[in-house]
Amino acid sequence: MTAILLPFTGGRVTLKQGGGGRAMRALIERLFVRDFATMPFDGVGVDAMDDGAAIRIGDDWLVITTDSHVIHPIVFPGGDIGRLSISGTVNDLAMMGATRVLGLTCSIILEEGFSLDSLEAIQRSMIATCREANAPVVTGDTKVMGRGEIDGLVINTCGIGLTRTLVRDNGLHTGDRIIVTGNIAEHGLAVMAARHGIEFEGDLVSDVAPMNGMIDSILSDAALADAVTAMKDPTRGGVASALHEMASKSNVGIVLQERSLPMTDAVRSVGELLGIDPLHVANEGKALLGVRADAVDQILARLHEHPLGRNATVIGTCGEERRGAIILDTGFGRRLLAEPEGEPLPRIC
Ligand code: MG
Repeated sequence: MTAILLPFTGGRVTLKQGGGGRAMRALIERLFVRDFATMPFDGVGVDAMDDGAAIRIGDDWLVITTDSHVIHPIVFPGGDIGRLSISGTVNDLAMMGATRVLGLTCSIILEEGFSLDSLEAIQRSMIATCREANAPVVTGDTKVMGRGEIDGLVINTCGIGLTRTLVRDNGLHTGDRIIVTGNIAEHGLAVMAARHGIEFEGDLVSDVAPMNGMIDSILSDAALADAVTAMKDPTRGGVASALHEMASKSNVGIVLQERSLPMTDAVRSVGELLGIDPLHVANEGKALLGVRADAVDQILARLHEHPLGRNATVIGTCGEERRGAIILDTGFGRRLLAEPEGEPLPRIC
């Protein structure tokens, strides 16, 4: 940790600093948040380092989020960069409570020589995902760079949505339960397998999907919405990174039940084979919800009705012990879960 806080002079950016963990957070805090946050702003701004920003408009919140997508390979089991770019932005809006998307932007930077057929396939995938999420792309931009100046293509998307129910990632309280909406680590491990041409027994498919419909089924019910205290999507850095962020911002400790973590046998065995803890691996169609204990059953029942939430389950409880930390209960004992420096796999989203 100390090393990344040293002066930047003479230093160089490392891949780790894009990995969604402590190293990335330190870079962002140091380089952007500290100074950008000095400008007057009424709402949830850059210093909140939440899934997006929120600006008050009358009784509503205008939520804004932006993401750049650099995944390699651009096509992987279960999706491609097009589906990912739409889902990622729609999901960040949904995590703030903005489940109804007003509009998306799409900015594409292409490498000279990129196949037009591939580009068309990516565009079709984006449109299909937009329809699924009921989220229109309303403006965009295209740039082309020379051969070798960029690797294939990069897609940046920005999204805006309105909500009356703003949900933050810092609202957890003692006694709240943590729900994960389904099996973990599928995106990261599926991309890893595709990248290295590794074939595994059993299905290993990315979970990439827009979750706004599923989240809306909770938030559109006032009684359920009221019981949701925090939300975050565990993308880069996985469940471990997202929970650390939620716990430290909320000033609670989270006891995580290892044996409750939903994952497929394929994920379990690939994780073991590669020596990668599934808790550290990116998801692109899963949400972590902090929920008041008295509403857990109702919220789980509602999630189970949605195709993306069939395996939703409670994985942890918030308490006063070890505030800001995650205590992993293995069933045999307890240990502190280390906060990842960053996603173990670069260019995962
Ligand atoms: Mg997010």
